[in-house]
Amino acid sequence: MTFYVTTPIYYVNAEPHLGHAYTTIVADALARFHRLMGEGTRFQTGTDEHGDKVMEAARKADLPVKDFVDRISDSFRRTWDELGISYDVFVRTTQASHQWLVRNILNKLYDQGDIYFGEYGGLYCFGCERFYLERELEDGKCPDHQSPPTFIKEENYFFRMARHQDWLIKYIEDHPDWIRPERYKNEVLGSLREPLEDLCISRPKQRLPWGITLPFDDRYVAYVWFDALLNYLTGLNYPDGENYRKFWPAAQHLIAKDILKPHAIYWPIMLKAAGIDPFQHLNVHGYWQVAEGKMYKTVGNVVEPRSLVGLYGIDQVRYFFLREMVFGLDGTFSEEALRSRINADLANDLGNLFARSLGMAFKYRQGVVPAPQDTAIEDDEVVFQAQEAAAEFLRLFPEFEFPKALARVWEFVGHLNRYIVTTAPWELAKDEAAQPRLDTVLYHLLEGLRWLAALLTPVMPTSAAHMAERLGLGASLWAEPLPKTLDWGGLTPGTQLQKGAALFPRLE
Ligand SMILES: [Zn+2]
Repeated sequence: MTFYVTTPIYYVNAEPHLGHAYTTIVADALARFHRLMGEGTRFQTGTDEHGDKVMEAARKADLPVKDFVDRISDSFRRTWDELGISYDVFVRTTQASHQWLVRNILNKLYDQGDIYFGEYGGLYCFGCERFYLERELEDGKCPDHQSPPTFIKEENYFFRMARHQDWLIKYIEDHPDWIRPERYKNEVLGSLREPLEDLCISRPKQRLPWGITLPFDDRYVAYVWFDALLNYLTGLNYPDGENYRKFWPAAQHLIAKDILKPHAIYWPIMLKAAGIDPFQHLNVHGYWQVAEGKMYKTVGNVVEPRSLVGLYGIDQVRYFFLREMVFGLDGTFSEEALRSRINADLANDLGNLFARSLGMAFKYRQGVVPAPQDTAIEDDEVVFQAQEAAAEFLRLFPEFEFPKALARVWEFVGHLNRYIVTTAPWELAKDEAAQPRLDTVLYHLLEGLRWLAALLTPVMPTSAAHMAERLGLGASLWAEPLPKTLDWGGLTPGTQLQKGAALFPRLE
């Protein structure tokens, strides 16, 4: 079983923002999850560096285009490194292997008659870098840019899309969760009710010199989308690479809803025409709306991912993103909501549970994991709750049900907190005859925390490592694939626990 997850390659006309960070964190959490499950896993991200808008942004920044794209691409890569993103490969569309691949596919499609030369006059939006049909405009304006398009007439190369339209409709209908969640599948099927126009896949160099030159006509460069989508094959070294054989067509593409059409219509038809199997799933998420309202100690722009992480911590931001947004729907970002998640879920629920459990183990057992004795019904209930929570988490997480998966884990956190109250270890400690009982209770708490560290690794890798360290396990926590790690009783009695700082400091 293999797992190949991609983010879009981000367009380098501006610095990374919250939406980029969300997509990338989701991809990272999924990649970590599948690695933990012991599956062959590959995670790809990168930058999209050609096109009108990039040239314009470089002009505004008063830099040569190549210097400009190097700078922004580097900024994306540094952001992901600072966020602890565990990508395996970072593709840039200006790299030689990508340019070679694009030209290779273009040649193939041209030779087999999927691409033709023709004249086209139409309404062009320079912001979108595409032609619009009259009926797609709103009050005569581009719906995205709210500006009237310009009529331009020029000779270009066109990709025959219509010949694959019926195939695409049937493929979507035969694979109902191929585009998910369902609302986006419905949107795509809706737009496929209209006949597909052929796609203009070239731009004349006299207007746009910054791009990949067509292999069959050096007066033109490739349209930026045709170039960009092929990155998903570049990173696998299509057509001869070992990774291509191993990971295609297992691809799980992650995108935000604004780029649904190129990924759900152009891309599968490009693959079909080139004789390549379709990807496995297109997974579409909504937007983060930034709420008006109170801002805290923020300097600069809080929706800049690096400053957000600098203020609140990587794992805190990762947890918030995954816990707060239902994948597919829009979410609301506010600093207040982030702070309240940090204080309630992380500092109070999980952080306190961890601090109290280890604190009692040090106070009553010198920080050594005791051996459990005969169990009572409330101890067996802890084991049962752990197994239920883990089973649900393992089912929900790979299905992109992140808020539900985390809420289920937090039910287990709540259960352990109540277990402390009902068993009252501080009372047991006073009673000589209750010492075996105290051993059992402490063991169940510490073993429950080991489970939590394992389950939360994909979401909060730094905190999970901290927990593993304090539980005296270190990297041995991940020595086996996740399902095996979750056999109850993995924490060995006699293990020496470690002291350390609070897991999640409370925000004032
Ligand atoms: Zn536009």
